[in-house]
Amino acid sequence: MVLAGQSYQLLFVSTPLGPLGSGVGGGVELTLLNMLDALTQRGHQIQVVAPQQSQLPQTKIITVAGSPQIPAQTQTRQTPIHIPANSVLANMWLQVLALQSQFDLIVNFAYDWLPLYLTPFLTTPVAHLISMGSLMDAMDQMIGQIADQFPHTIGVHTRAQANTFPFAQHCYPVGNGFNVSRYQFTPHPDAYLCWLGRIAPEKALEDAVAAADRTGLPLKIMGHIQDQAYLEQIQAQFPEADIDYLGFLDTDVMQDVLRRSQGLLVTPRWVEAFGNVVIEALACGVPVVAYHRGGPAEIVRQGETGWLVEPDSVDGLVEAIHKLPEIDRQACRQQAEQEYSLTAFAERLEQWFDKILSQRGQ
Ligand code: UDP
Repeated sequence: MVLAGQSYQLLFVSTPLGPLGSGVGGGVELTLLNMLDALTQRGHQIQVVAPQQSQLPQTKIITVAGSPQIPAQTQTRQTPIHIPANSVLANMWLQVLALQSQFDLIVNFAYDWLPLYLTPFLTTPVAHLISMGSLMDAMDQMIGQIADQFPHTIGVHTRAQANTFPFAQHCYPVGNGFNVSRYQFTPHPDAYLCWLGRIAPEKALEDAVAAADRTGLPLKIMGHIQDQAYLEQIQAQFPEADIDYLGFLDTDVMQDVLRRSQGLLVTPRWVEAFGNVVIEALACGVPVVAYHRGGPAEIVRQGETGWLVEPDSVDGLVEAIHKLPEIDRQACRQQAEQEYSLTAFAERLEQWFDKILSQRGQ
């Protein structure tokens, strides 16, 4: 066991939804990068196991071939666990099995049953960073079992996310952290709004389009298209709306559009575990209009760094968009710097890892 304050040898195991850098994995891709930056700066040694074609500059990465997992959010609560032939998830964990003795701790980024199930069979402890709320009974049951058997090993981003699970009190909230210097503070916006994220029904892009349309402001949309038919349905529903889909962009390019907007609309229908895009907007000085639910409701300060509105209310969004000029953009940047820096994140992660490892050492 490594004592607190020492540097750890960590093995990160990426999402099996797709390569890092593709956007297929959603926010977990940026979370992994941010954790890598945060912990490397503190002297920890990290290697990453990730699907083939993953892009990760300046890090030792072991890429693994195989078929991706089906996203959990496209399945129903009763869906049994699915694992395809030649599964990249299974192949990545074979690598973990072979490499585990070189590491103090394995950090799992997959929202999947298999790594949880394998935990008792491994000799190196596993920290599971759970990136979504409760979606499937089989997952809840398996996460709950590991939370019980291996205390503190189930990390979550927010309390709201933890509260979706029956074992909420056994979850360890770690928040999130960002390299705020990658986002350029912009005091004076242009006349448009932004919407960012995976284009999939649980994100309710249609509400943002409806609200922007009613205010007459153009809406710039950026993100990975997970459901093409869903996007086409929205375009058909609002043929006159001034919307511009710019694609899935690198953080540097994306923030250059985001930073000049009047506000970011965050409209998830589900309980968002965190909402990386909220902090990315605040870091640029861009206020956020979000539904009062899930992670964004724990982040946005009402009337100070944005507006939280009644969930699923387009009227509420429209009203809040009109009040965006009341928000001081400097306060938005300050919140991102003060609460979501990489340093603050690294400290929380170290405490989490220390807790897991000291428990194991008892
Ligand atoms: N994103 C990006 N480029 C884009 C649009 C989005 O890199 O053009 C990233 C964004 O930085 C964020 C992620 O997509 O990290 C969306 O994550 P979020 O936590 O908001 O939602 P999730 O997809 O995990 O449900």
